Amino acid sequence: MSTETSTPTTRSVATQFDLTTGLAADTASLLRPLSAMAGMYADSVAFDAAVAADDVISYEFYDMGVPYLETEIAYGTSITYPGRVGDEYFMTKGHFHTRLEAAEIYFCLSGEGLMLMESPEGDVQVEEFRAGRAVYVPGRYAHRSINTSSTEPLITFFAFPGDAGHDYGTIETKGFRKIVVDREGVPTLLDNPRWQS
Ligand code: ZN
Repeated sequence: MSTETSTPTTRSVATQFDLTTGLAADTASLLRPLSAMAGMYADSVAFDAAVAADDVISYEFYDMGVPYLETEIAYGTSITYPGRVGDEYFMTKGHFHTRLEAAEIYFCLSGEGLMLMESPEGDVQVEEFRAGRAVYVPGRYAHRSINTSSTEPLITFFAFPGDAGHDYGTIETKGFRKIVVDREGVPTLLDNPRWQS
């Protein structure tokens, strides 16, 4: 993403997001099939089997193309579908912001789940998502949405500073310190056996 070519937004914009599906009919979403999550789930055998059986869309989200400027507000919806890899719930890849100090707000429109957050120093925080609940992700915290429902998509609306940027590489390389798995129907936080210090 280039900052040199960005010019401020000067016209109002309105987008209709469906409250049931989270989708905007006239805007293309970014699709993340399960195969895009290689190395992210703890159970690699279950992951390989799931991808081979049916490489479903595990989540999708919008990049509305807001200029990459600190005065702008990037926004969109994120839809994480129900499902599991082994006993680990479907989730987003998760990321730090390139401008690490940039915070973000998520507002849950539908479904239920968790926001898993972690600082570079290893502080872990978890907040619940359910319809109507706003989760404020402080600056410096990586964040990942996790759908703990077995039937409903987890739909959130997010907004963050336009120049925050996304650092996916740190999580792709190291993972989160914690994972969330189903234990007899109860979402349970465990140490990530694949976490790289
Ligand atoms: Zn973010």
